[in-house]
Amino acid sequence: MQTKVYLTDEEMPRQWYNIAADLPSPLQPPLGPDGNPITPDMLAPVFPMNIIEQEVSTQRWIDIPEEVLAILSKWRPTPLHRALALEKALGTPARIYYKNESVSPPGSHKPNTAVAQAWYNKQFGIKRITTETGAGQWGSALAFACSLLGLECKVFMVRISFDQKPFRKLMMQTWGATCVASPSTETQAGRQILAKHPNTPGSLGIAISEAIEAAVTDPTGATRYSLGSVLNHVLLHQTIIGLESKKQLEKLGEKKVDVVIGCAGGGSNFAGLAFPFVNDKIHGADIAVIPVEPTSCPTMTRGPFVYDHGDTAKMTPLLPMHSLGHDFIPPPIHAGGLRYHGMAPLVSQAIIEGLLTPRAIDQIECYEAAVLFARTEGIIPAPETSHAIAAAIQEAKKAREEGREKVILFGLSGHGLMDLSGYDNFFQGKLTNYPLPESEMGSAIRELNGLPKPKVVRSGKW
Ligand SMILES: *Cc1c(COP(=O)(O)O)cnc(C)c1O
Repeated sequence: MQTKVYLTDEEMPRQWYNIAADLPSPLQPPLGPDGNPITPDMLAPVFPMNIIEQEVSTQRWIDIPEEVLAILSKWRPTPLHRALALEKALGTPARIYYKNESVSPPGSHKPNTAVAQAWYNKQFGIKRITTETGAGQWGSALAFACSLLGLECKVFMVRISFDQKPFRKLMMQTWGATCVASPSTETQAGRQILAKHPNTPGSLGIAISEAIEAAVTDPTGATRYSLGSVLNHVLLHQTIIGLESKKQLEKLGEKKVDVVIGCAGGGSNFAGLAFPFVNDKIHGADIAVIPVEPTSCPTMTRGPFVYDHGDTAKMTPLLPMHSLGHDFIPPPIHAGGLRYHGMAPLVSQAIIEGLLTPRAIDQIECYEAAVLFARTEGIIPAPETSHAIAAAIQEAKKAREEGREKVILFGLSGHGLMDLSGYDNFFQGKLTNYPLPESEMGSAIRELNGLPKPKVVRSGKW
């Protein structure tokens, strides 16, 4: 029985898929502080123009530059596995497949966009890229990409992770990046916060503010900022995951997929896997497409569709998305990459259209799923990824009850070898579920009352 499929380097997709060309209802534009749509020029100090062009493109297929393909081919195409041992443990008639993005050198899907973004910056003459990182997944992916392309990389890492999670910081250092704890004394935003709260643990919102400030205030003009999820161009770069998966399923003789599942923080690995299948769904295929989030940060399942800022400090434009409010601070669950208040606008619009059926799962069920997966398939998944596994198991059990031979595909977004302390807490029985109480949901969302509201536009087909 064949349990994995590789593609050759020649079979790697040569183009990314842009769902903006096929969405039945268009995305609404990002808005500036005055409530008017922002223009590409307004983003020019933050991102290079070639990336801004990609951000607003509605071209269906976009060529992947040769040099980007050459670097991606260091670990791509990634394998697609059949989870036979997991199927057996569950006694399900379903066939479960997973796309393994954990094989990249930094250990997740994130370098797919980090390499592309670093390359476009270099093409544009940029010498140095700044970014923020929480637990360090994105910072390490960008550090990796910059080192291969010969760019400087500066990472503002949330103070508490900087102190508690030295390993990803050391990965960044190994790849030649400079990693500082945020808030830092290097930016005005950081100094202001430190003056008021000298012992603050920091936050992603503060780190974003510092990274943007460090980019736009460089007097040489050769620094730009980079974001690892949420934006259209990031999701675009990730579609190579789903495009490869389609070829691999075909090679295995699978004619139809019934369920596609991914975990969703800002939405990039989910969209990367799912959007090529959502394209089939738009054109008539019957597929359930499920983004999965934690019950403690229920952006898609309980958050309203609003215009909101991408960061706490309100430096980013207003984006039309599902959001719990830019002031929302999620409980300290271990899946750090899923602790984000918003959701990619493209994913949000696909939810509004009824093309996706989001689901929220409790932390303990996710760890149970992760441990079962590790003990059957062998790979120890990232805490974020465990949400996709838990949903795949739910679907496989449903198929067993219905007695149906469903085909289930999920994204293995990363391994958990840098996140074993979460497993430690789970084994010691120290983990709890944090379903978000209604009372805590309200306040951050109420902050959005004065902001413009996006239209809810749907074609009514799904
Ligand atoms: C960052 C991360 C996520 C969440 O980010 P998305 O943009 O939603 O994909 C999920 N899994 C892993 C392993 C991550 O590192």
